[in-house]
Formats: sequence, structure tokens, C-alpha cells
Amino acid sequence: MKIPFLSLKEVNRPYEDEIRKAINRVIDSGWYLKGEEVASFEQEFSDYIGVNHTIGVGNGLDALRIILRSYMEMGIMQEGDEVIAPAHTFIASILAITDNHLKPVLVEPDINTYNIDPDLIEEKITDRTKAIMIVHLYGSNAYTEKIGQLCEKYDLKLIEDAAQAHGAYYKSKRIGSLGDAAGFSFYPGKNLGALGDAGAICTNDTELAEICRALGNYGSEKKYVNSYKGLNSRLDEIQASILRVKLKGLDSDNQKRREVAKYYLNNIQNEHLILPKLSASALTAKEHVWHLFVLRANKRADIMNYLKESGIQTSIHYPIPPHLQIGYSELNYLSLPLAEKISEEVFSIPICQSIIKQEYRQVAELLSEYMP
Ligand SMILES: *Cc1c(COP(=O)(O)O)cnc(C)c1O
Repeated sequence: MKIPFLSLKEVNRPYEDEIRKAINRVIDSGWYLKGEEVASFEQEFSDYIGVNHTIGVGNGLDALRIILRSYMEMGIMQEGDEVIAPAHTFIASILAITDNHLKPVLVEPDINTYNIDPDLIEEKITDRTKAIMIVHLYGSNAYTEKIGQLCEKYDLKLIEDAAQAHGAYYKSKRIGSLGDAAGFSFYPGKNLGALGDAGAICTNDTELAEICRALGNYGSEKKYVNSYKGLNSRLDEIQASILRVKLKGLDSDNQKRREVAKYYLNNIQNEHLILPKLSASALTAKEHVWHLFVLRANKRADIMNYLKESGIQTSIHYPIPPHLQIGYSELNYLSLPLAEKISEEVFSIPICQSIIKQEYRQVAELLSEYMP
């Protein structure tokens, strides 16, 4: 049996007919940008997340870039100001900060949640700190009350990188509605994925929303009148029409991921592996949408190889932390032992809404039988 890490074809199969209809509707409309599909998706996503504004943009990185850029246009941040961010994250979180000539101040993860350690944030706050960016990594909520309190105490913006956590909750609120602004990605492999690049910004801040919308459209609110030096980053009508179809199935897709995760948590038994540690309350409260199922092992290469020989594909999220990347030579001097340890030990096993029980049972059995 061959089990791919992720089969997008299988993920999209249940939606195929509706997606084709949606695309045809757009083709027939003769209107491909800034039209009704985008407006409808923005409204539907706002309702789903529980915010006043959604602004469709070209991708998830742009969503985060544009949020920060808007705060600079508003005079809330200046070049050289600091943004606190997790040391263990996908590179795009950090790219959004440095692209705006802001300074990422990296904070070690909590070894149990892999998200930013809320207890290590306050010591990093300086006069130049303007925002905290939390990343809901692997699909699990990173927000804590302590983080909210720090933002109030020091008057910081709270930005969510929600690119991996569409539909997850913190208590009764959806991720993406917890801070001042959130960036989503609809990259095909995300829990809510388009058939190409796409992204969105969510916020309750009307002024911010207007500036973000202008910035994604050359900096223009009115055609040929430019309030800002903007960029071109827009969600297109075809992707929006596809996202409208798939948004309707997101909660049930996430529920399927939770079932797979629960099976793995209950059935992978091997002292050489560290499984995700999650409080029972976080599990039932749907704080996790399992974008990825990440394990840790001292000798991960051996295990990944063993699975590969049995036809099971795995992956690593992520093998090099941002501060050790060649492109970030200015951060290479940093020592962040936990982020580094995690990057050396993690590996991800197949999880998605289309994986069938026979497959995930096989993965769990093989992992339980594994002996170094
Ligand atoms: C995917 C991702 C992004 C970037 O999204 P793109 O649409 O690929 O630009 C940003 N942050 C995180 C955590 C992601 O996983």
C-alpha cells in the first residue's frame, strides 16, 4: 500500500463537480478580478471567522506583509521597530516582518505545544516593540490570555499568522478573530486550499481594512488615484469561487482530521517517539485543526526511511529554523536551542480529510512496531 503525504486530488475530489460549476460560472461571467465572487467569499469568510472585514489578497505571505505595511502607513510602526515572533515557524511569518524593514525578535517555542512560549515574551519587549505575531503552527491555537494581557499592558498590536489554522477555536472564538488582524493562506495544501495561490486578511479594524484593501490594489482606493505606494496582490474571481465551495465543507473536513489525529494519539505506542502533547480540553474545544501531525524522534531519518520502505511518505516542518537560514545571515549568530532541537527532531506523517482508516491504521501500526 502506498500512502502519499498529501493527495490534493483526493482532497478536492468531493468538491470536483461543484468546483467545475463555479469555474464555469466565472468564465461565463466575463469578469475575472474584483467582482462578485470575491465580494461574496469575503462576506462568507467574515461570517465564518467572526470578524467585520475580510480582504482577499494574492497569498498568505502578502496578507501578513500588507497588515504590517498598513500599520506603517498608519504611523503605528516605523522602519526598525520590533515585532515579536516565534523562532519556530514557517519562513513566511518572518519574511513579512523583514520585508517591511521591521526587526523580528524571535522567541523560543514551548517544547510541548511547539508554539511561541508565552512566558518568554515579556523579557523581549523594548521601547521599539510594536507588535506580537503569533503563529498557530500545525493548526493548533497559539493564543493565551497572557499574550492578550501583554498586548494591552504594552500597547502592542496582536497579529495572527493563521495560515495553518482555518476553523480552529480559542474558547468560543475562531482563530483569526483573536487579535487586531490575521493573515490566512489558501495555498492548495492548507486546510482550506484554493487551486493556486490565494490569501486573506481578517480584522475588525475598519481603518486598517481600508488601507489593506488599497495597498493590495496599487495603493489606490479610487481608480487612478493613489493614496499609497501599493502593490498588486488580489484574490481572483476563480480562486474565490472555488474557496466558496470548499468553505462550506471546512468544518467537516477539519472534523475528519481530528478523527485521524485522535486515532494516531490513541494508537501510536512507541517509547522512541514523542507524540503531540495536548490537553484534553484543547482537544474537545477544537483548538486544533491538525494541519499537520508532527512527531519527534532522536533519529528521525531512520524512522522516515523505515516508513518510506513501507510506502508511506513523510515530511519535515521545518528542517531549518528561520534564524539559521542562509538568507538570514544577520540572524545566524542567534542561539535558540529549543527551536534548533525541534527542527532536528520533528517529522510529519500523513493526515488530511481524504485519508482512509485502512491507511492511517497502517501508519499507526508501523510506527508502533518500529524499533531503532
Ligand atoms: C503557508 C504559510 C504562510 C504563507 O502562505 P502562502 O500563501 O504560501 O504565501 C505563512 N505562514 C505560515 C505559518 C504558513 O504555513
